[in-house]
Amino acid sequence: VLELRDVWCAFGDHEVLRGIDLAVHRHEVVVLVGPSGSGKSTLLRTANLLEHVDDGQILLTGEDITDPRVDADAVRARVGTVFQAYNLFPHLSVLDNVTLASRVVHKRPRAEAEAHGRELLAGIGLGAKADAYPDMLSGGQQQRVAIVRAIAADPELLLLDEITSALDPELVGEVLDLVRSLKDRGATILMATHEMAFARDVADRVVFLDQGRVLEQGPAREFFADPRETRTREFLARFR
Ligand code: ATP
Ligand code: MG
Repeated sequence: VLELRDVWCAFGDHEVLRGIDLAVHRHEVVVLVGPSGSGKSTLLRTANLLEHVDDGQILLTGEDITDPRVDADAVRARVGTVFQAYNLFPHLSVLDNVTLASRVVHKRPRAEAEAHGRELLAGIGLGAKADAYPDMLSGGQQQRVAIVRAIAADPELLLLDEITSALDPELVGEVLDLVRSLKDRGATILMATHEMAFARDVADRVVFLDQGRVLEQGPAREFFADPRETRTREFLARFR
């Protein structure tokens, strides 16, 4: 679904991504881990064209989205994205947040989009909150709504960047459980997280970024049980 080929990205003379090669296959959950500043967020942002690419290619289902002729809005309509916080529009109801893209970008009729939106909200136990506003929800509920919004239009790929790191610890579980259920339903996900236990359980593959490069990657079990690189070991030791 997603393939990065030798992707470079710099801010001024600071090279943040230094030749990233990475593939995410259909129905696969790939987790990015690495120290703060290693380039995880930047990498995720290049994949929906929120960040520039200086060199290399990014293919979304075979299409080179780094081609300057590509319509960035059309690409973003195919990729669902959830960030750390402030994902919802505060002036729109929960239901309007969930249905906005389907109605405006995908031009689904309002009644159809709303029926689908209510179904999705009911599916995460928030059917009764459809007409509430985001600030009436807990942080965990808001993030779950943000995830449901990101999948409402059936994206090819879901990008999740530290979606639980702004939450109180007791709210992290409900958000991660939702991600797990998306995986069970066949979603294709690339996510950055510091939740190592979750990564070990749910990731098909873990990719360790260090100073803008993929230092090491592998199946989650092997990655955590027996990391090859010293820097990976040092990084993981901080979570024990
Ligand atoms: P964290 O774990 O803290 O979220 P990260 O791995 O997501 O870190 P990035 O946010 O991708 O790291 O940042 C990588 C580097 O790029 C950092 O040194 C950051 O300061 C720099 N950077 C990111 N965005 C910009 C920008 N718009 N302008 C200048 N520098 C930037
Ligand atoms: Mg980040």
